[in-house]
Amino acid sequence: MVKSEAVHKSFGHVEVLKGIDLEVKTGEVFCIVGPSGSGKSTFLRCINHLEKINAGRLYVDGTLVGYREKGGRLYELRDREVAAQRRDIGMVFQRFNLFPHMTAVENVMEAPVQVKRTPRSEARRRATELLDRVGLADKVDSYPAQLSGGQQQRVAIARALAMDPKLMLFDEPTSALDPELVGEVLDVMKALARDGMTMVVVTHEMGFAREVGDSLVFMDGGVVVESGDPKDVLGNPQHERTKSFLSKVL
Ligand code: ATP
Ligand code: MG
Repeated sequence: MVKSEAVHKSFGHVEVLKGIDLEVKTGEVFCIVGPSGSGKSTFLRCINHLEKINAGRLYVDGTLVGYREKGGRLYELRDREVAAQRRDIGMVFQRFNLFPHMTAVENVMEAPVQVKRTPRSEARRRATELLDRVGLADKVDSYPAQLSGGQQQRVAIARALAMDPKLMLFDEPTSALDPELVGEVLDVMKALARDGMTMVVVTHEMGFAREVGDSLVFMDGGVVVESGDPKDVLGNPQHERTKSFLSKVL
């Protein structure tokens, strides 16, 4: 579903991704862990072309992200084509980024109505279903300010799902939450994983990674230091840097 070949990304003179090679298979939960500043968010943002890569190749579902290749050269896609690629990729951030002036159901139906031109009545029905799926059937008409952080994050997940993505990207979706609210968001993610959604999850929740993850990479300094089955990497890390990181977070 995602294939990254020697992906490089620099900001000015600072090289943040120094050749990322990895493959996310369809239907798997792929976890990315690593210290602050290692490039996890940058890599996630490259997957939907919110950041442009400087070298390498990045594919989603077999299609080059952000570029077209012709005669060995890359040509940047137009904004409209990039938007079409992004439509298939749901993203959930650390901060919930809900529209504050819209109710939960309005937040969830916004993109289908605006982007896909889904009729409002159908979009509302579907949004209500999705809110039910994330356990918020009784909060459909609540505004974000009336919801807890965990509830807001679940609305954000429902909103991403409303576009029927083939891939979901999560960037530390629980790290801004009070500890007692983390579980309800992880439970929604676990259910999504069980339903077969392909997910790339940047997380510090090692329990989630071990329990739900199919693959895991440990990133440090813009490279993948170690990768494999989460139980192996977390339980029996091979590299000093992985050991030292895990000893701090576990
Ligand atoms: P964290 O765990 O703190 O979220 P991270 O692994 O997600 O860290 P990134 O946010 O990808 O790390 O950042 C990697 C490096 O890239 C950092 O040194 C950061 O300062 C730098 N960086 C990220 N975005 C930009 C930008 N837009 N302009 C310049 N530098 C940036
Ligand atoms: Mg980050």
